[in-house]
Amino acid sequence: NPASLVQVMMHLGEMATATQSLPDETLQLLGDELKYKVEVVSPEDEDRELLESFSIEFGEDSGSEQDLRPRPPVVTVMGHVDHGKTKLLDSIRNSNVVSGEAGGITQHIGAYQVGTVVDEEDRKITFIDTPGHEAFTAMRARGAQATDIAVLVVAADDGVKPQTAEAIDHAKAAEVPIVVALNKIDVEGADPQRVRAQLTEYGVVAEALGGDVQVVEISALRGENLDGLLEAVVLTSDAALDLRANPDMDAQGLAIEAYLDRGRGSMATVLVQRGLLRVGDSIVCGDAYGRVRAMLDEHGKNVQEAEPSRPVQVLGLTNVPSAGDSFLVVKDDRVARQIAQQREARERFAQQAKSSRRVTLDNWQRTLEEGERNELLLLIKGDMSGSVEALEESLQKIDAGGDEVGIRVIGRGVGAITQNDINLAASADAIIVGFNVRPEGKNSQLADRMGVDIRYYSVIYQAIDEVEAAVKGLLKPIY
Ligand code: GDP
Repeated sequence: NPASLVQVMMHLGEMATATQSLPDETLQLLGDELKYKVEVVSPEDEDRELLESFSIEFGEDSGSEQDLRPRPPVVTVMGHVDHGKTKLLDSIRNSNVVSGEAGGITQHIGAYQVGTVVDEEDRKITFIDTPGHEAFTAMRARGAQATDIAVLVVAADDGVKPQTAEAIDHAKAAEVPIVVALNKIDVEGADPQRVRAQLTEYGVVAEALGGDVQVVEISALRGENLDGLLEAVVLTSDAALDLRANPDMDAQGLAIEAYLDRGRGSMATVLVQRGLLRVGDSIVCGDAYGRVRAMLDEHGKNVQEAEPSRPVQVLGLTNVPSAGDSFLVVKDDRVARQIAQQREARERFAQQAKSSRRVTLDNWQRTLEEGERNELLLLIKGDMSGSVEALEESLQKIDAGGDEVGIRVIGRGVGAITQNDINLAASADAIIVGFNVRPEGKNSQLADRMGVDIRYYSVIYQAIDEVEAAVKGLLKPIY
């Protein structure tokens, strides 16, 4: 049990608590001491093994050099808030009215492809239709990389701002080349020279200043010089990247976004990274699977096949995959179902293991008895600073029932419960106390998934009563 493992650790000279994550070497050491063979397997390794058991290799173009064909670059638009990312994506979408496509790109499916002419050659570019580096980093955190090039939008009247710098860091960490869109060139006070100079301080050096970064002055609002920007993307892709994929294999790629449509069921936008995706293919995407019943493009039109770098909305999956899930075509429905079910079982097991370890108000007594913790950690969020302070003060006054047992507030704040709060609570193993506030957006699902206990109150004494009952072992667990 955890308590005795902690003792063995202590004997080995390692101080640890029962809920702490341990480095691989320490786990090996623990195994040696207890005469167990410890094998550390990453989720990625596990998935690779699963696919290998079906003779599938994910992430590799099959065949030889000759089978590879050029594919369009995939672009993510990043930059500081209000610098024009959304406007730019809209303007490019609207300016690209291909003849015969009345209304241009009308559907938001999470990504779109546009055409441009560079050196008299027809070229294509795929844009991820969600601006900002959050989606980009969330995907990377899952080991998936959809983006080939980052378009960094910088307002010429405002210059480099905190999120500009962050976006540069993320692009560099991912080794993704940057193209700078110096936006709002129409605004009085726009000073592109100053911004160019400023960017060099962040290691983004324009060609005009002796570097290799294309910096293009545009006005997203007026639709000015968008062609110049598209050309810069193509040229950067040609100069810095060798984007090729085998279009003749079973398709593989990533889910970009997905939702449940009342009438049509699961609608998942996938980006094909290699191979050719066809209607009728059996696919598995994360723990969703099914046969591709139909595919829609960004014009809302039915398409029969999708080649590398092409985003399409897929109909026919059993459930809704998550952004960043990989997808692949398999031999038949049976294989798809088996892979999906094994993934689902593994995920469920991992979640259980994760959340059963976490401290909640309901399991606090057990945590205490097992010697895992003797301090209940709280993170307080409220709608007003006055109520947060009052609540903190009262909670800290609770007599936790002995000298060794205590309550500690590790953080407090005004406003909705954010992703940051949940991450902090998860890493510290704290409970979140929400006073007249709720989690914003999808954060309540996030908290569920991470096993973070959030308690909601609108009356201070109720909060105090419940926390007091928990620390004194009087709280009745709710199942
Ligand atoms: P985001 O937060 O980066 O997505 O920024 P938005 O695209 O929402 O743009 C913020 C504001 O700047 C909006 O009011 C846009 O209309 C405006 N804007 C965007 N591009 C331009 C531009 O090129 N010129 C001018 N004058 N305004 C712009």
